Amino acid sequence: MKTDIEIAREAKMLPITEIGAKLGLLPEDLLPYGHDKAKVTHAKLADLADRPTGNLILVTAISPTPPGEGKTTTTVGLADALSRIGKQVSVCIREASLGPNFGMKGGAAGGGMAQIVPMEDMNLHFTGDFHAVTSAHNLLAAMIDNHLHWGNVLRIDPRRVSWRRVMDVNDRALRDAIIGLGGTKNGHSRETGFDITAASEVMAILCLASDLDDLEARLGRIVIGESFNRDPVTAAQLGAAGAMTVLLKDALQPNLVQTLENTPAFVHGGPFANIAHGCNTLVATRAAMQLSDYVVTEAGFGADLGAEKFFDIVCRVGELEPAAVVLVATVRALKYNGGVAVDDLSVENVPALVAGCANLGRHIENLRRFGVPVVVAINHFTADTEDEIHALQSYCARHGAKAVVSKHWAEGGAGAEELGRAVVDLVEAGDAEFEVLYPTDAPLTEKIETVAKKIYHAESVYFPTAVRNQLAAWEESGFGHFPVCLAKTQYSFSADPKALGAPEGFEIPIREVRLSAGAGFVVALVGEIMTMPGLPRHPAAERIRLDDGDVVGLF
Ligand code: ADP
Ligand code: MG
Repeated sequence: MKTDIEIAREAKMLPITEIGAKLGLLPEDLLPYGHDKAKVTHAKLADLADRPTGNLILVTAISPTPPGEGKTTTTVGLADALSRIGKQVSVCIREASLGPNFGMKGGAAGGGMAQIVPMEDMNLHFTGDFHAVTSAHNLLAAMIDNHLHWGNVLRIDPRRVSWRRVMDVNDRALRDAIIGLGGTKNGHSRETGFDITAASEVMAILCLASDLDDLEARLGRIVIGESFNRDPVTAAQLGAAGAMTVLLKDALQPNLVQTLENTPAFVHGGPFANIAHGCNTLVATRAAMQLSDYVVTEAGFGADLGAEKFFDIVCRVGELEPAAVVLVATVRALKYNGGVAVDDLSVENVPALVAGCANLGRHIENLRRFGVPVVVAINHFTADTEDEIHALQSYCARHGAKAVVSKHWAEGGAGAEELGRAVVDLVEAGDAEFEVLYPTDAPLTEKIETVAKKIYHAESVYFPTAVRNQLAAWEESGFGHFPVCLAKTQYSFSADPKALGAPEGFEIPIREVRLSAGAGFVVALVGEIMTMPGLPRHPAAERIRLDDGDVVGLF
């Protein structure tokens, strides 16, 4: 089989105006970025506001193996399949972060015959949205230090500035930094550091804002730190929100591209899936729903993290009601959850697979709590054996979920038609009665406990006194109504990445809490979460180069 980049390069792309036409968009509704990418204009977005919306399908996954289980690939393949069986459909996924592409993660545009193109653009600078987020974020950082320099009228405590700087590179050397060295003309020196752009609260805000006004209001509510009196200080108090909105005005318009099979694809926004909600922008999902009968979207990580946040944060904020969920499972991830080492995953092992199915069962049960019907997609790998697939399907049948083998990676949309029909059956049955997991007016500690106990199956949650006090102070300051965003390892339901399968009887320790007042959620960190990755000993960057004008080594 060809590499992803070779397949992508051979794609027969349609001009972007023809992709727009599939959604009823006129050339003037699009701002072209070359011939194969365009943004949908703010004017058109406003115009769509009162349209009825199509069916929203969420693609999520069981607890993964380290290389990923194929959510994006399945999202793309399912959309192409729906298109083949005559549905009007679009895809919504996140944009790629540059940092990991030069490290080791590989592309974010799907794989095999189920990809979004132009994939090199999408994985590199694309339409500049990440650069806009980086600029807006760092403008605010510069305005904070400038405020300290010019007399600090707001009495910001420099030791309690939580707003850091961001860059879209993996660079561990920047995690902790001292700035303002070199004398009085360079401002006050203080300790700070850098995160990767995807971890910026500005990215989360871009992804949850409903329009430019809401974007500006949310940017203004960002809490950058505290004053000497311990009062929160906001971006609005620094007068930064207007200029940040100006830097982000183009970035808020959704990017339209296409799949290998010319299905319209919105690729827009890319927040972290741990300290943020990990989904593409609400603006893109809403526009897609207003422009298509079926919208297939993806949430980052396994369903305990990604789907929970999609439902409790994105759907709550956007008032979206998903019609069905596709839970991606792979034979190899189930064997991994059944205790098989990563290097042995391509060897047949039915007993380990059956043991690992406990993980799948818990995800199915969890998803049902949200009132959305579930179909399991078995993302087919060539090493899967018939006995393994049979064992997996009979497990699902016993748990009342249909499990469909899907071969979109090898065959494109044609390989996912059965999955497509299963999704259409669920949607047409109309059984979804979506509900969020917890009410917003519950206390913050209770909301965290609800997620930990009902979704992770934790026995208890440990809140250090400092964390309890901090949460109480935020409730006092008027942030108590926010949903919660738990940042936890994606490899286990518990806090221990090695506790695979469906662990019970564990404690979820909350190490730290962070306020994302502009995005509108409280982040609870379970264990150490890296917000500035590093590069491996031999980063992909050593192999990436131009060969006769073509990018090689990227994937
Ligand atoms: P996720 O979105 O869950 O992180 P991706 O869809 O990005 O996963 O897939 C992760 C990697 O696995 C990609 O490189 C993709 O090409 C590869 N992949 C996905 N499905 C298959 C498959 N069925 N067979 C072989 N490789 C696959
Ligand atoms: Mg993905």
